[in-house]
Amino acid sequence: AAKADGRRTRRLFEPAMDAALQSRRALERDLRAAIAAESLEVHYQPLVATGSLAVTGCEALLRWRHPERGFVSPGEFIPVAEETGMIATLGEWVLRRACREAAGWPEAVRVAVNLSPAQFRTPDLVGTVARVLTESGLDPARLELEITEQVMLEESTANIAVLHRLRGLGLRIAIDDFGTGYASLSYLRAFPFDKIKIDRSFTAALGREATAGAIVQAVIGLGASLGITTLAEGVETAAQLTALHRSGCDEVQGFLFSRPVPAEEIRRLVAASTVPWVAAA
Ligand code: C2E
Ligand code: MG
Ligand code: MG
Ligand code: MG
Repeated sequence: AAKADGRRTRRLFEPAMDAALQSRRALERDLRAAIAAESLEVHYQPLVATGSLAVTGCEALLRWRHPERGFVSPGEFIPVAEETGMIATLGEWVLRRACREAAGWPEAVRVAVNLSPAQFRTPDLVGTVARVLTESGLDPARLELEITEQVMLEESTANIAVLHRLRGLGLRIAIDDFGTGYASLSYLRAFPFDKIKIDRSFTAALGREATAGAIVQAVIGLGASLGITTLAEGVETAAQLTALHRSGCDEVQGFLFSRPVPAEEIRRLVAASTVPWVAAA
């Protein structure tokens, strides 16, 4: 019976799996073409000081406008790029683009670039970052690399050494989506991060769920006593901003201030001293 069931299951699921595989292959082929044709874009979202609402930096976020599929989310194509090894090319491209762009911004504004765990498996990540910094002329102190807890989980000893060497270049390391992975606290012991980015799921629950508020408060306190900057992701309402300001969170990021916008638009935004939201308020 088990065998018959197996056969039935296979018949049921094979066409669906086939379709998924086909669309994945199509995505891979199109992504290769997009890299070659440079039809990918980097958009930027401001990181804002909670008290003054000054722009402290901008996060570089990949955007892909697919000819037929329209806008493809990085959440969809980054995993494909990781599995196919294209992430090394793609990651270096984003880093170079972002550093060149940031070199033209006011000096007080940093640029934050996401690093995929797969980039830590490429032969010379540190050399690549050093080269891009030199070529762009960007002060390393103005670069922030965002990593996820996954990096600490995989090959942790080797990756911690790489993180130390990256930090040795003079740049800053931020831990992204904090609170969504495993054993976050032990990572804080294992590596001296410069910034903690509290995941937006916690921000969203502020004011609605007492536990989320308590956790956010504890992380901010932890950051303060360790000398690590804290930033809350996904701030969408003035009430969330107020709560975060009261809690002593250093920085905020979210649709309340700005969505990720193209380079030309961020140039205008960083030229002003604070986010336009203040003017509107
Ligand atoms: P992330 O690094 O946590 O980036 C923040 C994500 O939250 C962005 O999604 C941003 O658009 C979104 N976001 C910002 N503010 C708000 C808000 O107020 N509300 C809501 N609902 N969302 C907000 P995006 O651009 O779709 O990127 C998704 C993820 O894809 C990123 O999460 C990052 O992990 C990855 N990613 C994007 N660009 C790159 C890249 O160049 N390299 C790598 N390795 N990963 C990237
Ligand atoms: Mg990020
Ligand atoms: Mg994040
Ligand atoms: Mg996030």
